Amino acid sequence: MPNNLAPIVSTLANRSSLSLARASLFKFVGLLAAVFLLASGSLIYLAHDLDRTEEVESAFYTKKAVQSLEKSLRSTVKDYAFWGDAYKHLHTDIDVDWAYTRQNVGSTLYTDFGFQGVFVVDDANRTVYSVIKGELKPVDAAEWLEQSSLAGILDKARAGAETETPTTTFINVKGIPTLIAAAAITPGTDPSVVPDEKPPSVLIFVDMLNSTKLALIGDDFGVDRLHAATPDEMGTTSFLALGDDGTAGRLHWSSSQPGLRLLGVGLPLIGIAALLVCLMTWFILRRATAAAQALDASYTSQQRSQDALATSEARFRDVVEASSDWVWEIDADWRLTFLSERFEVVTGLSRDAWTGAVIDDLLHLESGTLSQWLSIPKRRPDISVQCRYIDSKGQERITRLSAREMARDGFRGTATDVTEEVEARRRIEFLSQHDALTGLPNRTRLQEFLDGKLKALPTAEQPLIMLSLDLDRFKPVNDLLGHAAGDLVLNQVSNRLADCVRDGDLVARVGGDEFVLILTDVSTQDEVEALCRRLIESIERPIEIGEQEVFVSASIGIAMAPTDAFEAAELLRYADIALYEAKAGGRNTWRFYAGDMNARIIERRRLESDLRYAIKHGELRLHFQPRYRIADGQMVGAEALVRWQHPVRGLIPPDTFIPIAEESGLILALSNWVINTACNCAAQWPNSLFVSINLSPIEFRQGNLIERIQQTLYDSGIDPARVELEITESVMLEDAAGALEVMRTLKRLGVRISMDDFGTGYSSLSYLREFPFDGLKIDRSFLSRLVESEDDKAIVQAIVGLGRALSLTVTAEGIETAEHLRLLKAVSCDEGQGYYLSRPLEIEAFNALVEHAGAKSIV
Ligand code: C2E
Ligand code: CA
Ligand code: CA
Repeated sequence: MPNNLAPIVSTLANRSSLSLARASLFKFVGLLAAVFLLASGSLIYLAHDLDRTEEVESAFYTKKAVQSLEKSLRSTVKDYAFWGDAYKHLHTDIDVDWAYTRQNVGSTLYTDFGFQGVFVVDDANRTVYSVIKGELKPVDAAEWLEQSSLAGILDKARAGAETETPTTTFINVKGIPTLIAAAAITPGTDPSVVPDEKPPSVLIFVDMLNSTKLALIGDDFGVDRLHAATPDEMGTTSFLALGDDGTAGRLHWSSSQPGLRLLGVGLPLIGIAALLVCLMTWFILRRATAAAQALDASYTSQQRSQDALATSEARFRDVVEASSDWVWEIDADWRLTFLSERFEVVTGLSRDAWTGAVIDDLLHLESGTLSQWLSIPKRRPDISVQCRYIDSKGQERITRLSAREMARDGFRGTATDVTEEVEARRRIEFLSQHDALTGLPNRTRLQEFLDGKLKALPTAEQPLIMLSLDLDRFKPVNDLLGHAAGDLVLNQVSNRLADCVRDGDLVARVGGDEFVLILTDVSTQDEVEALCRRLIESIERPIEIGEQEVFVSASIGIAMAPTDAFEAAELLRYADIALYEAKAGGRNTWRFYAGDMNARIIERRRLESDLRYAIKHGELRLHFQPRYRIADGQMVGAEALVRWQHPVRGLIPPDTFIPIAEESGLILALSNWVINTACNCAAQWPNSLFVSINLSPIEFRQGNLIERIQQTLYDSGIDPARVELEITESVMLEDAAGALEVMRTLKRLGVRISMDDFGTGYSSLSYLREFPFDGLKIDRSFLSRLVESEDDKAIVQAIVGLGRALSLTVTAEGIETAEHLRLLKAVSCDEGQGYYLSRPLEIEAFNALVEHAGAKSIV
């Protein structure tokens, strides 16, 4: 520890012990307060308990006193009533002399026992003898006792005659609880007295419990201040009710309340003790605060910094544990000295296990080690590094590490888990670079890959080979079997292509059915050709889609770096040119790019621009090839066939320039010229002749074909029934629904439609049934083989039969011999055209033919 820190630290220590002492003191005071409270509570409880016991006891003794009073009165009255003399002198006769004067039942009962009243009631319940307060007074017992009737008591008393049992009861006389005892007067055990038949008289003693008497009884039983309750005392708790439901009055007494006395002594004592302790605490606190203030005064700044440090530590701890990052520290030996709690949560690894380990063992860099990275001199602290580690589940995870050098040796920093982020980025990268359908690299990835490979400068010995591959016969699959089937085919083909190349090679899908393959470990032409053969063979294997087997094939164009080009764009273009050549060369094959191919392309460009000029400047010619009815040899019409009278090259056939026109979009202008010319010419022909015009599939897709035809029909004034449009089935292959729509509209215009080149396509039969055709033209390839092949004969016959079944006019094309004609006639083919009958003729020649020959028959 540096020396200048020592005083701060000792102060901090003082400060903390002071606050500790203070805290302990407070705790102590709290404890004492609790003890005092507890003692007071206990005391109060004890006092209360004492008082309650005392109360119960005094109630018990009061009751006992009353009971003993009753008992003694009962026994007294019994002694007087069950007595033969009394029977003789107070029942049989009323002998006042015996009773009062001779003091047998006289004033002594008042003076000795305190009975205020003594009565004798005869058998008719009349008072016959009464002594009040010791004096003989003729009063009625019931009246004096303030009772409406004494019948109840008297009956009870008489009932007890047999068993010599007197009765007692409490009543209230003049507000004073009064005990009366009554007993039937019987002869007792005196054998000399003979009882009479009358009901016995009753002797009544009255004992009024006035205050003096009650005080005396209370004294006897140790009950303090026993007295009859005054009305304002009625609510208090300690009482004894006399008579039925207290009608005779209530006895009260005051309990000694020893608990209260105890409280009177105990509580003040506790209070004084608590006060003393409080004073002492206050005194100690004052001393302690004074000391602390003294310390504060001398070390205020250090204290503040300590507080700030504590706050910042707390804040740091909160942040560290709240964030998803974990914090690490290493010493000069690259050993982990600290790992925050989050480390375990995030990595699942044990902090204890890794503390002390070298950080390079935990975290790995893409290149080099973490310690090397940390050691980079003047490394910017705000730059982080991406590391990998294996978590507790054995999964590789990626974390971004930031690090700062510590004042003392070592580093500390945070680690942010970025696994998901990196994976998401990878996924996005993958998606952006791959085709969604097949998962193959797309054009973007291809470009990148190609750039990378070309940067490595391929040599003649180790060239870079680019194959541009295009599927043949794929479109019909897509159109006829649906896109789902098309997707399946593409996936199959993709897999097969990928299987044919090696790991370092690339197969990319760059268009609907176009693929590009980049190969780096094939060097000789033979090897490349062997690979192309393998690729085509592999693709040609049947592809099963549900119940069906689909066959596709491929054409391949090959370009090489550095032989053909160094640049990616050029290579791609050259491979495409070679592909074009391969397709032109009959498909299902491959071509290496050659310099003259480029020349041919350039030639095509030139032709294209020439054609543009030609259309505008009248270099196009229209020839007409007559069509005849086979049965009777009558000419029925003519097919318009376009030619190009090139100023330098001479007459160019349509097969050469129609594709160029289609590719360049010139076909619309060209076709317009053909349709117009054909209709205008035919309008001059006899009404029996129609003109047949070839349409390009492109015209069906774009351009306002219907309006154009309509316009031409109108302009030329020709009967639409004399116009036939020839279309190939590729029109329907591309957009069957659209084609049907256009064809129906054309039919409404009144023109005829026939299917050209029938038999060369895929499923012409279904089209014939579903589309509004008027006729079909059997492709001339059938006729060329007709003589030698029995099969073709059968096919032609079948087509004719089919045409008839569907009410279509069947035309045979390419009749070159009399034999052809004979055979067609034999199968009852409707119409025909061919060099044997007439070559296509210039308009003048055709007009001449029509004019001179008139209805010249070929037969
Ligand atoms: P296509 O519609 O099949 O026309 C018939 C082709 O067969 C014509 O070739 C005709 O000269 C040729 N031909 C006629 N009889 C015989 C024969 O007995 N033997 C042989 N070997 N060939 C015969 P052309 O005039 O060279 O036309 C070629 C193709 O060019 C046509 O085939 C047609 O698809 C297209 N075409 C011609 N004119 C036009 C046009 O004005 N517009 C469009 N879009 N295409 C056209
Ligand atoms: Ca045709
Ligand atoms: Ca044809």
